[in-house]
Amino acid sequence: MRGFVFTGVVVIVSVLIIVAIAYAWGFTAHKFINRKAAQHLPGEMNSFKADSLFYESHSVDADIRRDNTDTSFYAERWRHFLDIDDYPNYHNLPRDLNVLITLYGWERVKQNGLNPWVTQRLVDSLTAQLMRSDLTTAKYTMSDLGHYIADAHQPLHCTENYDGQFTGNNGIHSRYETSMINTYQSQLRVFPDSTQYISSPLDYAFEYIYHSNSLVDSVLAADDYAKAISGWNGSGTPPSSYYSALWQKTQSFTLDQFQHATVAIASLWYTAWFNAGLSTDVKESMELFKTGFSLLQNYPNPFNPVTHFRFEIGDLSLVSFKVFNFLGQEIETIVNSQLPAGSYEVVWNAEHLPSGVYFYRLEVGAHSKTRKMILVQ
Ligand SMILES: [Zn+2]
Repeated sequence: MRGFVFTGVVVIVSVLIIVAIAYAWGFTAHKFINRKAAQHLPGEMNSFKADSLFYESHSVDADIRRDNTDTSFYAERWRHFLDIDDYPNYHNLPRDLNVLITLYGWERVKQNGLNPWVTQRLVDSLTAQLMRSDLTTAKYTMSDLGHYIADAHQPLHCTENYDGQFTGNNGIHSRYETSMINTYQSQLRVFPDSTQYISSPLDYAFEYIYHSNSLVDSVLAADDYAKAISGWNGSGTPPSSYYSALWQKTQSFTLDQFQHATVAIASLWYTAWFNAGLSTDVKESMELFKTGFSLLQNYPNPFNPVTHFRFEIGDLSLVSFKVFNFLGQEIETIVNSQLPAGSYEVVWNAEHLPSGVYFYRLEVGAHSKTRKMILVQ
């Protein structure tokens, strides 16, 4: 738990220094991870892949925003970590934030960090931003999401002993995440990987936080080893032999954490994008295979006043495509004829209609599918 009561100015100053170094991977790591994450995105997200330098340049906005005088519950400073092992029986920690607050009080919950819940919340925000086609805001949200996910892959962001202060490893936080990474940044690499759809971002975040926590003792043991090898006693600047030993002992799992952080970021970006109804490939081609046709979400949506409908038909069929209002009354028949197999796109202008929720239904033979759209005049 990162809450202490101090008397005396000298002690407070030293605590501020610890807190100042204890909030993030160094800038090198954040920039690298955010930039590399984009390469895992699937082809249909090419326009997002192309923005990797944007995610890189905004990878540490969240750290820059931090204001240690802000102690409100969702203040920036609590978002970058989860001191999960401060909680009793922490391997079975309730994941519902309200339950946790009821059990331990909001002050303790806040000071232990809110990383997984903030991650979940940002995935929801990103979904909403993508649904309303607010790509400018979405790109900033993607950058921040990348930051918090990367933080949770730093083992020392997932423990109460975040600076080795309980085990005589004081200062290990920044030696590991900043000095060591800066020294060995040329050896960082991420291999192309694929994204996965994450049905519960919160459970997923807990999964990688537990894994990060399991690496804490390895980082501390590596610090002890590097001190012994280099003869450094812990005061002043460590010699380069300290860092080479620290890297030697932590390199393997640290590179794994970098790899996994990039995959987790791309997967949660992809999940938000998929939940916004923007994915067309996998789900829709499965549907075409099953029912002989597929109906994609219109775009843009919401729209004003023009939108595009797209559908695919597997065989020559009698096709009906109609638009209905919120009460289910038919507004317009757009297609009612035999159509050969193929992909179709219809451009529709709704300037004569009032704002509101509408539905469009595609019937192909005995099957039909209905989707919702929103007109904003
Ligand atoms: Zn951070």
